[in-house]
Amino acid sequence: MTTPKVPVLCLLWLVLLNANLQGQAQAAKTTSDTFPADPGISQSLKQISAQRIQETIEKLVSFETRLTLSAQDPDSIAAGHGIGAAREWIKSEFERYSHDCGGCLEVKTDAFLEPAGDRIPKPTEITNVYAVLKGTDPENAKRIVLVTGHYDSRNSDTLDASGAAPGANDDASGTAVSLECARVLSRMKFPATIIFLTVAGEEQGLNGSRHFAKMAKEKGWDIEAVLNNDIVGGDKNPQQDPSLVRVFSEGVPVVASDADLRLIRNLGGESDSPSRELARYVAEVGRAYGAGVNPLLVFRLDRYLRGGDHFSFNQQGYAAVRFTEFREDYHHEHQNVRTENRIEYGDALKFVNFDYVASVARLNAATLASLASAPAPPAKVHLLTKELENDSTLTWESSGAAAVGYEVLWRATSSPEWEQIQAVGKVARVTIPRSKDNVIFAVRAVDREGHRSLPVVPVPER
Ligand SMILES: [Zn+2]
Repeated sequence: MTTPKVPVLCLLWLVLLNANLQGQAQAAKTTSDTFPADPGISQSLKQISAQRIQETIEKLVSFETRLTLSAQDPDSIAAGHGIGAAREWIKSEFERYSHDCGGCLEVKTDAFLEPAGDRIPKPTEITNVYAVLKGTDPENAKRIVLVTGHYDSRNSDTLDASGAAPGANDDASGTAVSLECARVLSRMKFPATIIFLTVAGEEQGLNGSRHFAKMAKEKGWDIEAVLNNDIVGGDKNPQQDPSLVRVFSEGVPVVASDADLRLIRNLGGESDSPSRELARYVAEVGRAYGAGVNPLLVFRLDRYLRGGDHFSFNQQGYAAVRFTEFREDYHHEHQNVRTENRIEYGDALKFVNFDYVASVARLNAATLASLASAPAPPAKVHLLTKELENDSTLTWESSGAAAVGYEVLWRATSSPEWEQIQAVGKVARVTIPRSKDNVIFAVRAVDREGHRSLPVVPVPER
């Protein structure tokens, strides 16, 4: 019997066509494949050093106290005592890194007189110190990603200007993350700008970050992401889990207008603030780069009864998240250094896990580098809702020349993270055969090397 050649080929063609159609309809599940690591970034992460971080934290502890109200007169600075000495040393570190990269960093201070208030008995000069790694692409250099930690410290009494306040974990650890990111990333070039910030006044009421964020807003700075590291020392208590770092993010934005709130209420947008999308981005970076610590997303602004510098940026409408170790030991925070009933109190150097801080720094650096390499997020992302239909049509405006394509992401309304990703090419409009009523969509831009922008959730358009 001879083989009926043509019908078999037809059948094969039908099978292939069918597979192809299914392939188009099915998006990829989110995995490390859908957010590939950049080999150049991976390589630079290897330079992040637990040893260097240890030296930074030891130096910060050596100033005895960094309370915002502590000494900052020239004699105290010369003697290496008080917050003034800490400020000058941080500045000199940034300048040293800049010298090593041929002057690539602009080292600046943001100094102001904080008027007397609750935790400020008399008008006090507060100084934020920061370094700017300017973006190399004129189109993208105005986009800013920022990492911060607070270099001030405190003990049991927030007004004790001279007692010991080592602040090794809170927050020399976060300051060390900012410095180490600056040291390592300043050896690379990025299209967008990175700011490495250290602030003071946190313990007196977020004074430093509030001033900086306001200044940024007044100057019209386009800050796309703020990574605040506060208490990332991985305190060596028995219940600590050094494989995790918590990433806190606000749900409903503090700056949401009444109209925003109506939309959020009607459409279930409580978990899609720009800060929350940034937290999800950190989770993707964590999977792609394996920094040595896994981000644990906590869907709330901060811990109970606590606040932090990310909130100052949220208040100006910027996306900002907070990194904090998995389990804090309250014997070691905001306590005078002492031993009572065999319990050791105080934020001492010996409780800090420097390898852990280095892992957190790697996760921060990978996030900063990914965002600063990526195209701008797509603008004016809209979801068309004129018709009652089961397909969903999204439109957006170009992210600029760096974007070679876009991806549509979606997840069930009850899911914490993006579940499906579909590459849609270099277009500004796409129809997805899926009901907008059942999922949450977002769109992000991709460049030639595979860097992903922050995703943007569409606003409904009638
Ligand atoms: Zn703190």
